[in-house]
Amino acid sequence: MKGHCNCHAIEFEVHADPQGASMCHCGQCRRQSGGVWASAYVSDDALSISGSVRWFQSSKNAKRGFCPECGSFLFWKALDEDTTSFALGALENPTGLRIEKHIFVGDKGDYYQITDGVEQRQ
Ligand SMILES: [Zn+2]
Repeated sequence: MKGHCNCHAIEFEVHADPQGASMCHCGQCRRQSGGVWASAYVSDDALSISGSVRWFQSSKNAKRGFCPECGSFLFWKALDEDTTSFALGALENPTGLRIEKHIFVGDKGDYYQITDGVEQRQ
């Protein structure tokens, strides 16, 4: 499974089955992505990244990785966990993945509805 940013300065490969495919509606993902951020995660050693990711420490516990050239928001990482989430939107099709849950729906924008029947968590 391969992905890349808009300008290809950052490319990545996923070497394990992604876990926890989700759509995040939190305020930080809204602002970083411009909307809803879809991601899944794998262990750090199953994710290979080429290029220089710019990391923004978005809270005491997590950082967000994006391309310093084109701005594509590609990665999210909890500082005390050995996994990294990557953007499903950056993957090449077909992914074979299905969204398992919506998260932080309590923070979602009021300009859309979630109507896909997938589990929603606050
Ligand atoms: Zn780029």
